[in-house]
Parts: sequence; C-alpha cells; structure tokens
Amino acid sequence: MLRTKDILDEKDQRLRIISKNVEFPLTKKDKEAIQKMIDYLHDSQIEELSEKYDLRPGIGMAAIQLGIPKRYFVIVHEYEEGKFDTYVLINPKIISNSEEQIYVETGEGCLSVNRPVEGIVPRYARVKLEAYDMDGNKIQVRAREELAVAFQHELDHLNGIMFTDHIDKNNPFKGKDQMRAI
Ligand code: ZN
Repeated sequence: MLRTKDILDEKDQRLRIISKNVEFPLTKKDKEAIQKMIDYLHDSQIEELSEKYDLRPGIGMAAIQLGIPKRYFVIVHEYEEGKFDTYVLINPKIISNSEEQIYVETGEGCLSVNRPVEGIVPRYARVKLEAYDMDGNKIQVRAREELAVAFQHELDHLNGIMFTDHIDKNNPFKGKDQMRAI
C-alpha cells in the first residue's frame, strides 16, 4: 500500500525530469504502481480511510511523483457523492482545447506540495486528450472544469512542470479578469 511518505516532495529534483514514453506491454512493476496509485487516490478521498492511513487527499498522481520517470498518470474523480471515475492515461497528449481559460479559485493542490499556494494557474476550461490505456489501446478522453484542470496538472508533471511554475511571483493574481474562476 502506498503511503504519503512515498510521494516525492516538491524539493526533489526528480520532479523536474521529462518522463519517457511507455512501451507496451506494460511491465509488472508499472501495472503494480498504477494499481497502488488508484488505491491511494481513491482511499485518500474517503475521509475514514484518509484519516486511518494518514493519506493526503488528492485526485491525481503522475508516475514521476513516485520517482518513476514514465509518461503515465492516474486520476480518480468523484463525479458524484461517493461515486468515482478512474482514468489511467499512458503517453497522453492534448489534441484540442477550448479557448476559454479557467483557474481554481482556492488554488490548485498537489500531493507533492505540502503547503497552501495562492495564485492563478491558467488552464483550459475543456480539453480533449489522446492516450493509451493499460492494454495499449488508443483512447480519447474529454474533460471539462475540475477534471480538465486535473488532466492538465498531471500532464505537466510528465514534462517536469509544477503548478507553482505557472504562478506569477510578483503578481499571483495576474490575468484574473480574463479567466473564469471555478
Ligand atoms: Zn501535482
């Protein structure tokens, strides 16, 4: 079982690595890592389990956050109270996006950033991604709002980018009027 201490902290330079494309079939290790990521993200969003195992709540995790420099991430999205959708995206890329931009009003969070960070992280309101599933089949996924932000946040991790990089240090709320808060 994955624990919070297994997740790399923002100071760890491995988070700056540009992760490599994954080849199929997946290795046993990658399959196991993916299952652990799914379990962690799911359990972390259930209060009783997150308290019991001291898990930091999160909806997404990229492989590099476990020190695995490969292009995949997992998102477990609670689309309705107590109901979760699980996404495993391998070698993902954005193939289209809305012009409209949004930002998370309360600030984005990251399992590798253990402090509140204020400021605007501009994201597309809607994105369409192409990726591979665990069996190597090509898939397309559409996302909007919170889920779209999560996809863009995790995709950034595969390129060594942290959400904090997007915030203007001198003016954290720059561009506020051009974007919609969610
Ligand atoms: Zn993150």
